[in-house]
Amino acid sequence: SKGKIITVVGSGLIGRSWAMVFLSGGYKVKIYDNQPGQASRAIAEIKKQVEELQEAQMLRGKLSAANQLSLLSSHEDLSEALEGAFFVQECVFEELEAKKSVFQAVENHVGEGVVLSSSTSCLMPSNVFSLVQNRTRCIISHPVNPPYYVRLVELVPHPETLPVVMDMAYELMTEVGQAPVRILKEIDGFALNRVQYAIIAECWRLVKDGVISVKDIDLVMSEGLGMRYAFIGPIETMHLNAPEGLEDYLKRYREGMRRVLSSFGPIPEFDGEAAARINKEICELIPNDQEHLSARRERRDQLLMGLAKLKK
Ligand code: NAD
Repeated sequence: SKGKIITVVGSGLIGRSWAMVFLSGGYKVKIYDNQPGQASRAIAEIKKQVEELQEAQMLRGKLSAANQLSLLSSHEDLSEALEGAFFVQECVFEELEAKKSVFQAVENHVGEGVVLSSSTSCLMPSNVFSLVQNRTRCIISHPVNPPYYVRLVELVPHPETLPVVMDMAYELMTEVGQAPVRILKEIDGFALNRVQYAIIAECWRLVKDGVISVKDIDLVMSEGLGMRYAFIGPIETMHLNAPEGLEDYLKRYREGMRRVLSSFGPIPEFDGEAAARINKEICELIPNDQEHLSARRERRDQLLMGLAKLKK
C-alpha cells in the first residue's frame, strides 16, 4: 500500500467509513465531495473518530492514529482529488442519475487502468456504470454499516468486468482487513439484502399475524440465530446439525423445511394498520426520538466493536 492513492468520492457516513478503512491499510486517501466544506468536515470527523479508536485500543491497522491521519486529504476539485489514484470508491447519494454522472465525470479524469468502484446498496452495476466507456474496470464494493466493525464487502461485477478487476478488489479488501465475498453475477439486492429481506418478511408476517411480539421476534434473532450466525453461516449450520453432515440433515429435515416454507405468506405490504401497530410496539421499547435512537446506535456500535474483537 505504500504511497498508493485511493480517492473516495462522497464524504457522508459511508465515505468517511471507507476512508478510515483504507487509511488503516496504510493507503493515502483523498476525499472529494461536491458540497462545499463537506469534505473538510469529513476530515475533522474522521480525525475525532480515529483518535477515539486509538484511545479505546480499537484502531485498525499497524499505523498510529497520527500516521494514518497524515495520509488523509480533502479536495474541492474532482480532478485534483483523482490525481494519482489507482482505485476510486464512490459513496454519493443512492440515486441512479447521481451515480451515473459521477462515474462519467470520474472517467474523464483517470487513466485506463484505474478501478471504478461503487458503494451502492441497491442499484445494479449495469445501470450504475452505463455512462462509463470502459466498463471492464467497474465493480460494486457494497459495504455493511458500520464497515469499521462489520467487515463484509459484497463485490458485484458488471457483465463486462474483467476477472482481474474482481481479483484486485478482493485482494485490496482483504489487505485492508475487510471480508470480501464474490457475487458471481449481478442480481437485484445482491446476497446480503436478499437474505435480510427474507428474514424481515417472515419476522413481519409473524408479528402481523399475532404469532409473536416485536420484542420476542427480535430476541429470536439476537439470542438464537444471531448467536451462531456471527461465526457460522446457514449451510455450515445444516452440516453441523446432523450427525453425518449435510446429506444427513436433508434426510432428516428436508420434508419439514419444505412443509414450513410452503406455509409462508405473501410479500408483506409493510404499510397500513400492521405497520402502525408494529411501529407503536417498537416505539414502546425504543422511543423514536433522537436521544433514544442515538443511545441505541451507540450501544449497537459498542457491542459490534466487542464482537469484532472476539472474532479476531
Ligand atoms: P450520505 O447521504 O451520508 O452521504 C452522501 C454524500 O455524497 C454527501 O456528503 C453528499 O454531499 C455527497 N454527494 C452527493 N452527490 C455528490 C456528487 N455528485 N459528487 C460528490 N459528492 C456527492 O450517504 P451514505 O449513507 O454515506 O451512502 C452513500 C452510499 O453508500 C449510497 O450509495 C448508499 O446506498 C451506500 N451504502 C450505505 C449504507 C448505509 O448504511 N448508510 C450501507 C451500505 C452502502
